[in-house]
Amino acid sequence: MAETDPCQEEREEMVEFQILARGVRDRRVLAAMRKIPRHLFVPKGYERAAYEDRPLPIGEGQTISQPYIVAVMTEQLDLAPQDRVLEIGTGSGYQAALLAELAGTVISVERLADLADRARENLARAGVAGVRVVVGDGTQGYPPEAPYDAIIVTAASPTIPEPLIDQLAEGGRLIAPVGPRDCQDLIKLVKHEGRVETIPLGGVCFVPLIGQFGWQGDGYP
Ligand code: SAH
Repeated sequence: MAETDPCQEEREEMVEFQILARGVRDRRVLAAMRKIPRHLFVPKGYERAAYEDRPLPIGEGQTISQPYIVAVMTEQLDLAPQDRVLEIGTGSGYQAALLAELAGTVISVERLADLADRARENLARAGVAGVRVVVGDGTQGYPPEAPYDAIIVTAASPTIPEPLIDQLAEGGRLIAPVGPRDCQDLIKLVKHEGRVETIPLGGVCFVPLIGQFGWQGDGYP
């Protein structure tokens, strides 16, 4: 972790007023959000906005999600320390850093190589080890390390990509925004004895998941 942290107090306030106040109670998630230096995951010039109650641009037309949404999605994954987790959409690496704090193995797949490079740098600066960032089409999952106890998709697709459901372990949880291009429903899937239970968690707005089992790439880099 970074030597001295000028933003500890801002992080405490973010957790208290944006996250605890809205009902996120998982103590491990709250502790991880108090610890991970979000300001090291936003572009230069945005550090002061890092703890505000909103998403921020991270380049290439992509965004780092609002802290509260990150907290809800992370809580819903129900992570245990030994879990294997797959993230689709590394972006800044912030969500991946939280996952690494809470689980055993974290693989994060990013479509854009420049963002993947930046995320690796951000993770290193923040002192987070234990995230493997892979460049590729995450709609296909990442078969070499499957199955996963938890899968989190941080970009939105019209339906949940089938390969991700296949790569979920028995008892595994998957969280993904699903629906139209602009705003979607956050969906949680739980796999029990090969069958999948679907739980809707509310409305969200994510950037598109672009790939074979997501949106086609028209107009996107
Ligand atoms: N979790 C990130 C935010 C992700 S924004 C964070 O904590 O900062 C969504 C990301 O998904 C973008 O970086 C985008 O490039 C990526 N993405 C879109 N389609 C993808 C695909 N098929 N596979 C992997 N990444 C994808």
